[in-house]
Amino acid sequence: MREKTFRWEEHPAKTMVIFSVLGSSAIGGFGIHRLITGDYLLAAFDFVIAFMFLSLGIFTYRTGKDALARASSAAVAAIGPLVFLQMFDTEGIYWVYSSTIVIYYLVPIRQAVVINTLMLIGVGGVFWGVDYSNFQLYSFLVTIGLINGFSFAFALTEERNKALLRSLSLKDDLTDVGNRRAFTEKMTETIGFHKRYGVSACLVCIDIDRFKAINDTLGHAIGDIAIKNLANCITRMLRESDRVFRIGGDEFVIIADGTDRQAAFQLTEKIRKTVEETDIIPGRDLTISLGVTMLKAEDTTDSWLDRADAELYKAKNAGRNRVQMEEAA
Ligand code: GH3
Ligand code: MG
Repeated sequence: MREKTFRWEEHPAKTMVIFSVLGSSAIGGFGIHRLITGDYLLAAFDFVIAFMFLSLGIFTYRTGKDALARASSAAVAAIGPLVFLQMFDTEGIYWVYSSTIVIYYLVPIRQAVVINTLMLIGVGGVFWGVDYSNFQLYSFLVTIGLINGFSFAFALTEERNKALLRSLSLKDDLTDVGNRRAFTEKMTETIGFHKRYGVSACLVCIDIDRFKAINDTLGHAIGDIAIKNLANCITRMLRESDRVFRIGGDEFVIIADGTDRQAAFQLTEKIRKTVEETDIIPGRDLTISLGVTMLKAEDTTDSWLDRADAELYKAKNAGRNRVQMEEAA
């Protein structure tokens, strides 16, 4: 199989690659210092960790997949300081701090809490029975508690912002239905599902008839209200598994998973009729044209949408306010 190559600017796992390079250089630096000062055992330990980070970085760079690198780097970050503390040097305690933060950065928040808790239990195990003052113990617990608290709060905010950003990036501003990006994602998912399980799916392109005239006579603001009301009207008619998106000015699409030809025709005819009978704009007739296609095994996102668009075009040419269904293969 040919290996996929990524342009660096658009690399999907850029931060993980950067982390691996920084982590391996930092720890490798210690290794070189220890090699020079004759501390061979510690140097070997540093080089092993640096090599692991570097290998994970190279793997991530080449495959674009960072889940494995994140999970194993988090494990190395948690186990490293423990080995260091146990075998060599109590100064290794400093690494517990940086590992705590690194682990919150690398893995989802729940996993980070679990891994950090295990690391702290490990630290407790290493120091069990060691003679230290209450003040030292108290200082360690307070500072590590603070680091955990801040990192947790930061990671939580980060996760929520990410989720918010994602939902905003997939939503159409005016109507709150999915936008073109969400549509492309959903299409890709449906095509994948179809290829794996053979589930039938239909795609419907919907466009308002003579919408320019509505804008021209009633104004753009009323036009916007019409688009919003139409989105609500369509959404109300769909099942839980059907999804609607606005992909252009007055153009919507529906993807209905698990829908055969017969059901697709019934659904789209019901939508057409309901829109015709609903006061989308009070006192003014508003109709839509619909183009319907079933997903074929050989379809790509482009070919599927192109065929639905072609059907919509036929519906417009045939006089508008109608459903045009692609002929069965
Ligand atoms: P047809 O029946 O052939 O579809 O005729 P049409 O007038 O609807 O033509 P078309 O679909 O090509 O034009 C869509 C119009 O929708 C063009 C533009 O003025 C208007 N439009 C696009 N985006 C918006 C929007 O966000 N708000 C409003 N109010 N109008 C929009
Ligand atoms: Mg139109």
